[in-house]
Amino acid sequence: SERTLVLVKPDGVSRGLVGEVIARIERKGLKLAALELRTADRAVAEEHYAEHAGKSFYGDLVEFITGGPLVAIVVEGTRAISAFRQLAGGTDPVEKATPGTIRGDFGLEVQFNLVHGSDSPESADREIKIWFPSL
Ligand code: ATP
Repeated sequence: SERTLVLVKPDGVSRGLVGEVIARIERKGLKLAALELRTADRAVAEEHYAEHAGKSFYGDLVEFITGGPLVAIVVEGTRAISAFRQLAGGTDPVEKATPGTIRGDFGLEVQFNLVHGSDSPESADREIKIWFPSL
């Protein structure tokens, strides 16, 4: 079994898609190991997106992710990292994510792509420590 860090980003929360995302995670057979509604402060956002520091969209990304409440979730199960990325769909909700995925069904813009999921075991460990230091 494996753990991954999922965020329902502020656009997902404001659009009322938290239940929809959780339902898809649960129907896939994955388990919720921790879950919290919170507003990320700048330090947490910058740590989470450290790999994007310096990119053109980094400032907007940090503003957006700290701009309202989000839901942070630790998801657990067999191959949880790639299983959730499959549920999420590609980063660009129109050009990459296919219908049937969270982004493909509900998103239009790259910045407002509703969810985040860790992309490797190393990222998952790092991100779970950022959002849930006590786990
Ligand atoms: P995430 O890390 O959120 O799961 P991802 O791994 O699919 O997304 P990354 O390339 O790591 O995509 O980009 C991180 C996030 O930064 C994206 O989810 C998106 O919200 C934002 N982003 C990426 N590229 C752009 C861009 N060109 N313009 C605006 N925002 C972007």
